[in-house]
Amino acid sequence: MTTIGLIGLGLIGGSLGLDLKAMQHHVIGVSRKPKTCDRALERGAVDRASTDLTQVAQADVIFVCTPIGLIQPTMEQLVPRLASHSIVTDVGSVKAPVVQAAEALWPNFVGGHPMAGTSESGIDAALTHLFVDRPYVITPTEKTPQAATRAVADLARSLQSRVYECSPEEHDQAVAWISHLPVMVSASLLAACDREDNLQVHELAKTLASSGFRDTSRVGGGNPELGRMMAQYNQAALLRSLQGYQDQLDQVRSLVQHSQWDELENLLRKNQGDRPGYL
Ligand code: NAP
Repeated sequence: MTTIGLIGLGLIGGSLGLDLKAMQHHVIGVSRKPKTCDRALERGAVDRASTDLTQVAQADVIFVCTPIGLIQPTMEQLVPRLASHSIVTDVGSVKAPVVQAAEALWPNFVGGHPMAGTSESGIDAALTHLFVDRPYVITPTEKTPQAATRAVADLARSLQSRVYECSPEEHDQAVAWISHLPVMVSASLLAACDREDNLQVHELAKTLASSGFRDTSRVGGGNPELGRMMAQYNQAALLRSLQGYQDQLDQVRSLVQHSQWDELENLLRKNQGDRPGYL
């Protein structure tokens, strides 16, 4: 049995607690609001819960599950109280800035990103088995102790996640392509449609929109705070992906403008073949 500390008892922290506690680990939770702590106890996500950060400081493995912007400030408060053996990991969706700051504060730190979630948030959104068969990316650097990486990977495997290891920068560029760029592209599609200045056409488009538009606009019509967070914390990688997308769009535009239908069809045929590789 391992003593697990969870800081931030929301969707991800609560879901980790539900599964880790069910595996007989001793789970101590810390959250900002007393009401959230009570609810986590009621839901069986923790053995005990508190708003006092020192309560998790002696745990064997501590997961920081706060919003991204609070990971570093939380680590700064936690580190002076930590037991020397404690391994700290985080679950943030962006890794390079988080890992850089956290490993400077605590040598036994391993960056992580369980790639599972729903559109809901908070302790009441926490789910059992959320991480089953989902990727769990671990981003050790040359400074990360191997034993700490192994411990976090073992816990992730015990959640039945598929564990992948890469550098924080590789992680951030990969999620920029498959998660953050699609949000910006989809949001731009919605915004461009909204700029149609013929009101009749605009209304007609809204009436006629069906499954294709629903699919392509879904991620752009989601939580604005999440989209802002992606851009703010993964700015460099997202800009690189946006540039690649813009170049590609220019190429498509040129093919259409110059009636290069065979070339356009070849591009679309290549995409048709490539798509299954992403899914
Ligand atoms: P969430 O449901 O909003 O949970 C975050 C929790 O952190 C809140 O419930 C809040 O609890 C708590 N919190 C806020 N400030 C705190 C503080 N100063 N000290 C302690 N607890 C604090 O968000 P989430 O979706 O679980 O996201 C948490 C992390 O997981 C983020 O870093 C995110 O990038 C990452 N992540 C999210 C997803 C996803 O799909 N949602 C997927 C993978 C990774 P109170 O109620 O006590 O305020």
